[in-house]
Amino acid sequence: MSALSQDKQDRLDALYREVERESQTFVGYPCTCVFDYSELYRFLKFPINNVGDPFAPSTYRVNTKDLEREVLAWFATLTHADPEAFWGYITNGGSEGNLYGLYLARELMPEGMVYYSEDTHYSVSKNLRMLKMPNIMIRSLPTGEIDYDDLRETIRIHRDIPPIIMANIGTTMKEGIDDIAAIRKILRELAIHRSYIHCDAALDGMILPFLDDAPAWDFAAGVDSLAISGHKFIGSPIPCGIALAKKSNVDRIARSIEYVGTLDTTVTGSRNGITPIFLWYAIQRYGVEGFAAAARRCLALAQYAVDRFRSLGIEAWKNPHAVTVVFPRPPEEVLRHWQIAVKDDIAHIICMSHFDRALIDRITDDVAHALQQEAQL
Ligand SMILES: *Cc1c(COP(=O)(O)O)cnc(C)c1O
Repeated sequence: MSALSQDKQDRLDALYREVERESQTFVGYPCTCVFDYSELYRFLKFPINNVGDPFAPSTYRVNTKDLEREVLAWFATLTHADPEAFWGYITNGGSEGNLYGLYLARELMPEGMVYYSEDTHYSVSKNLRMLKMPNIMIRSLPTGEIDYDDLRETIRIHRDIPPIIMANIGTTMKEGIDDIAAIRKILRELAIHRSYIHCDAALDGMILPFLDDAPAWDFAAGVDSLAISGHKFIGSPIPCGIALAKKSNVDRIARSIEYVGTLDTTVTGSRNGITPIFLWYAIQRYGVEGFAAAARRCLALAQYAVDRFRSLGIEAWKNPHAVTVVFPRPPEEVLRHWQIAVKDDIAHIICMSHFDRALIDRITDDVAHALQQEAQL
């Protein structure tokens, strides 16, 4: 390989400065900027690949599956999975974990009907099309939760078809949390004996386990599989996530696709072997106590943001266990500057670990100023 020409070198330098600058105003997405994996950079010089099943031996031994299994066991404990009877893998993010959950559900119940709320992540409807799964969208409540009455009435009409429920543990826009106990009560009352519940816990799967007063949402609450993002609350320069499921269910579909060398149980064949090291490292350095402190701090900052918005006359609000602060959609230049995501007439900021009060003061002042100017026009 020859050295880069000067103009190509300049482009890289300019890109570096741009990424560095944009990360200073990164407040609209649920990804933390706080992480330091520099101690692990030396691993980047190997063709590491965790191809196939993390629990099956492979002839591709330049892998990090030992650490991957430790990370999975840590998440299994965190989400009250049976330590002897869970299966999972480290994915490329929450979306892949949701795709895996739906795929598993379809293989178990090919005749099933998927129910999900209108506040569900945009990737789910695409995945349902890819999997050709019949599905019905359910209305949402103003909090972002699924509308339980609509869910009950809709399932009642289709009582003869096993329901597959895609539950949100923190919706994308409002961080609303679907009540798993309420959903299971609906299934019981309708005398439905075969059903499947997958939890999309992309963000809150790394927040709720650390709060004392959080609603039950995980395997202890009776769900069948779940997905959590790794690059959101934990933080990573490479997107990643965790998919966990009951081993008994996975075994029923894994057998038929076994091939020489390893098991092809995962959505992709070649898999990232670097992100398992990142996640393992973060877990060792933070520990449950460290993550709990970070979660409490983010929740307190989100409450601070709500209070400050309101003191400026802006109708902001948040859900009880949420780090997402919802407020009326501000003018375009504010959205662009702060990289704020919007849906219809609402916007949000998501108070992750790189937030502090000074940053919130700047955002809320900017939003208030822009809304005032807009009102005067
Ligand atoms: C971010 C998010 C996803 C997608 O996760 P990725 O890790 O970005 O693939 C899915 N669902 C919800 C609720 C999310 O917030």
